[in-house]
Amino acid sequence: MESKKEALIAYNDLKRKIINSGFCTLCGACEAACPVHAIRIEKDEVHHVHDCSKDLDLCPICYDVCPHSEALLLESVGFVADAPVRREGLGYYRKMLLAQAADSELRELSRGGAVVTSLLTYGIENNVFDSAIVSQAETQIPVKPKPLVGLVPDDILSAVGSKFFPASVARAFGSAVYEYGKANIAFVGVPCHVLALRKLEAWQHKIMGNLKIIIGLFCFGTLSLGRLLKYMLTAYRIKPSEIKRIDLNKEFVFQTERGATRIPLSEAKQNILVSCRTCTDFTSELADISVGGAYPLNDWSTVIIRTKSGEDFFYDAVEHGVINTEVIEHEPDVFAHAIEAAVQKRTSALKELSEMKEAYVPLPVRPLREIAVLSQIKVEDVMTRDVISVSPNITISQFLDFMAKHHHIGYPVMNERGDLVGVVTLEDATKVAKERRDKILIGDIRKRKLVVVYPEELALDAFKRMSTHEIGRILVVDRKNPKKLLGILTKTDLMHILRKRL
Ligand SMILES: Cc1cc2nc3c(=O)[nH]c(=O)nc-3n(C[C@H](O)[C@H](O)[C@H](O)COP(=O)(O)OP(=O)(O)OC[C@H]3O[C@@H](n4cnc5c(N)ncnc54)[C@H](O)[C@@H]3O)c2cc1C
Ligand code: SF4
Ligand code: SF4
Ligand code: SF4
Repeated sequence: MESKKEALIAYNDLKRKIINSGFCTLCGACEAACPVHAIRIEKDEVHHVHDCSKDLDLCPICYDVCPHSEALLLESVGFVADAPVRREGLGYYRKMLLAQAADSELRELSRGGAVVTSLLTYGIENNVFDSAIVSQAETQIPVKPKPLVGLVPDDILSAVGSKFFPASVARAFGSAVYEYGKANIAFVGVPCHVLALRKLEAWQHKIMGNLKIIIGLFCFGTLSLGRLLKYMLTAYRIKPSEIKRIDLNKEFVFQTERGATRIPLSEAKQNILVSCRTCTDFTSELADISVGGAYPLNDWSTVIIRTKSGEDFFYDAVEHGVINTEVIEHEPDVFAHAIEAAVQKRTSALKELSEMKEAYVPLPVRPLREIAVLSQIKVEDVMTRDVISVSPNITISQFLDFMAKHHHIGYPVMNERGDLVGVVTLEDATKVAKERRDKILIGDIRKRKLVVVYPEELALDAFKRMSTHEIGRILVVDRKNPKKLLGILTKTDLMHILRKRL
């Protein structure tokens, strides 16, 4: 059994619950945060390089700031929660739009909108920040990321494009402060990297006074380098040194000198890290600015602006002509694809988590305090009363256009008499083939069997019902007349309540 002294040293929990359970994504936040430099990432592993219990009697830091621990989650949401809009899968935000670098050569290099590279280059050239944490390609294995403290535009340009393997970018952030003495740092990372930085901020760690802006990337998962390279060798006879780059669109494209090899996402996903299977954040919900692909468009990116500082910086770059923008409502397919991927990731992560719980895999547990709070609140006190609904008589194409404007992913269906006659989601609509979407009506595809809650029930009842049925929102109806819709409650609403009350 763990001694009392061992229990006060967070590294013991970090090792047992995160590292040994396969949840580590090598972000390096624990190394950057450790006050006595007892942690080091070497050869893609976390090492405890000296026994910190000899220096300290108590230290909670490394476990608390690890993005895969349950600590500091609600505090971290606080950094973006003043944004006016909040949607399932997208998080809190101010604006969602399409953007691309004005420089077409840069877009060619990035195989996307090159928005991240453009923003960072602009920021360095105009002294908005003094450095940026980016991930270059490694020399030996070009698809492997090598985090770098970028100081000049050439450093930023050398990191253009995505590498789908773990990058210790939070450690590089620590180096920017400790070794380079940088005071205004821009940071780029996937959602778990962003969460690690927000946790460090919530901890009020001394290095976080040097953070200027966080740019988050969309992320389906990171691949295990060893496993994927072995797989490519056995299944496709492609050696690691032959892979020049990997592009992601609807599928993975492995570029070698012999040409392109296309691999479906589902096949490559067999090689993602354990923690990615249980990760619910697709769009970097805690970043100042999030950037992802804009499928089916090739040289555009989807941008979600969340904070005021992110908005000011982004539009400064737009005004200086380095970024072009376009409204996302003109491209409902892009919006539908992004939100579908976000919701799909969340749903499959929650399913995986519950399977792991059943198999007794050690998981960081959410505090029981949340249950206590939700059992003190009635649904009617927290539901949204002003519900946006759709008519059963509109076509699926009209519904997709409507959805791109309102950014919700599910809507109650109300007939002309104002009766609730079903519910329809983005998923239901996109299951219908594109060429039939102008002919089929919402009334034909709506779900008629509804999961509902009554206004006098508890928020906890609503939460349990949403979890049992694997849905993100629940309709609130009159107990005496179930066709009378009174409101709607979403899981994001409940998160918002918890953040305010805990
Ligand atoms: C592991 C991973 C998975 C992704 N999955 C999806 C997805 O499923 N759907 C989607 O729409 N978009 C996904 N993205 C994001 C997408 O690939 C682009 O990074 C994003 O659209 C920004 O494009 P851009 O042209 O503006 O970026 P660019 O201007 O090309 O800049 C890319 C930036 O990404 C940084 N970077 C590259 N690799 C990594 C890494 N491993 N870790 C941290 N930073 C890195 C570089 O430092 C660079 O600054 C993923 C990205 C990564 C790294
Ligand atoms: S001293 Fe470092 S390794 Fe030890 S518990 Fe604290 S942060 Fe973790
Ligand atoms: S903080 Fe990052 S590097 Fe450290 S254990 Fe957690 S995921 Fe791994
Ligand atoms: S899926 Fe989640 S845990 Fe995995 S790399 Fe992406 S953000 Fe990190």
